[in-house]
Amino acid sequence: PRGGLERELERLDGAPYGRYKGLVGTWELGPGRTVRIVRAQADPFAPPGRVALRLDGEAAGFEPELWATPVRRRALAGYLVRSAAREVRGERAYQLDAGGQEVLDRGSCTVGADGSVTLRFGVSLPGPRRRIDGHQAWRLLGPGAARIADRALVARAHEAALVREFVETVEDSAALRAELPQRGLVGFVADGALLPRRSGADDRPARGAGVVPFRSPQELRVTVRLPNAGEVSGMGVPEGVTLIVGGGFHGKSTLLRALESGVWDHVPGDGRERVAARADTVKLRAEDGRRVERVDLHAFVDHLPGGADTTDFSTDNASGSTSQAASLCEAVEAGARVLLIDEDTAATNLMIRDARMQALVAKEREPLTPLVDSVRSLHRDHGVSTVLVMGGSGDYLDVADRVIMMDAYRPADVTARAREVAAVPTGRRAEAESFPGVVHRRPDPASLDATARGRTRIRSRGTDQLVFGEHEVDLRSVEQVVDGPQVTGIGLAMELLVRRGHLDGRRTLAEALDLLDAELAGPEGVAALLSVHDEDLAVPRRFEVAAAVNRLRALRVFR
Ligand code: ADP
Ligand code: MG
Repeated sequence: PRGGLERELERLDGAPYGRYKGLVGTWELGPGRTVRIVRAQADPFAPPGRVALRLDGEAAGFEPELWATPVRRRALAGYLVRSAAREVRGERAYQLDAGGQEVLDRGSCTVGADGSVTLRFGVSLPGPRRRIDGHQAWRLLGPGAARIADRALVARAHEAALVREFVETVEDSAALRAELPQRGLVGFVADGALLPRRSGADDRPARGAGVVPFRSPQELRVTVRLPNAGEVSGMGVPEGVTLIVGGGFHGKSTLLRALESGVWDHVPGDGRERVAARADTVKLRAEDGRRVERVDLHAFVDHLPGGADTTDFSTDNASGSTSQAASLCEAVEAGARVLLIDEDTAATNLMIRDARMQALVAKEREPLTPLVDSVRSLHRDHGVSTVLVMGGSGDYLDVADRVIMMDAYRPADVTARAREVAAVPTGRRAEAESFPGVVHRRPDPASLDATARGRTRIRSRGTDQLVFGEHEVDLRSVEQVVDGPQVTGIGLAMELLVRRGHLDGRRTLAEALDLLDAELAGPEGVAALLSVHDEDLAVPRRFEVAAAVNRLRALRVFR
């Protein structure tokens, strides 16, 4: 590292703004501390410059056990970045991505295997009248950065208990998720968990006397041993086909959303700290208008009026049912082994076709084969479990292994009663024997092009959209995406798939995603993504990367 940042800024005071660029590099900030100017702003109105503040293990001073494993390092970083965000709150010169209720591997803060701490953030470099303000810039990069380090990035005795709680909460959550497969479970909701959120736009826990803590039904109650919390009881959602029924407004969707979010770890106090879903869980929904590229949909869609081949189906404008069928096949192709579907956002005609409609409209005139006829085979023949919210139709009672009824936010196991009800025949005939499996596709890497006007352009517009080169990828229906920085992470991961040669036109998407996973596992994944471009990012799952690839309108695949 170079010394003398203060002197250098004094020298540059009053110089043309563009000369901030000369500061790019690593500067000494004190014992064991450096500040790296990663990127300077081109002009005062451009996006802020990027800075990395680093403390070596000794300077940070955390006990080694707090950073002993990758999960603990992610958790410690998650704690520190939130403290740092509190520290700079209200200061517009600093832009720091603290994250929300989920604790992800993020670019904004990482803890190294040597206990070092790096905080990456944006700094608006001061430039009145397009001249360098050296004194103000030094205040931000020198004393300001030192203050953030002192108040937020070093071990402090009075915070030790909070840090430990944060790290142990995340570690327990990750252990709980890892435990599910060997217990034959797809999900777990601990007794006492608080599932409802404050609002559709506010992911913090709902408050007040009306919030009903979760209580597991006795039939589904299991006990897990967590590394820090010890024995915890709750509802285990078993593999197979699980149906969540109950009256409107009784908490069905809230339970399903908690499972959706259960693929991530949550901050202490979230209410979902001990709600987990298997890592290979994917939420599906209808999404009319999306593009579909060469997916084998014939299990769900066949004999279209136009005669299109649905074993190799493409469209620029999918219907609700075809979009959901495509999303299902794509999720399984990417490796999903648990599917979550809510009637509120599903295409009814893909979900059900009851006896009366079968009587009225002959099968020959109905291209759709509803999921009710392949959901059992999905599990039996392909190991793919389904958790389904369905309050409006009883046809799934015939095919469900378990039926959970939500009643005033309390779950009850009504499987036995559902069997009795299902014993009375409806006259409905099954329309398919089995689910035939998915066809693996080989994406053409040339169709994943992130360049725009000669440069790599990867950017997020909140959770709604990924800007990838000249393309805009609509992610509004990819519901497990956490936040904008994760959308950026998805784009960077797509670029990595191409740059590393994981996608080479011969490998299937699933094979390329295996290679990507190996690269993105643990906090080192952050470094891999930052190597494409230094930006606020969170590491995505393979399923969201696949979802974005599949929604890229330029995508071409070989089969
Ligand atoms: P459903 O899907 O059965 O129609 P929702 O899950 O949408 O019901 O829940 C209806 C309302 O009840 C929502 O406003 C939700 O926030 C609230 N809610 C859900 N679970 C609880 C709970 N455990 N305690 C208090 N309110 C809840
Ligand atoms: Mg609902």
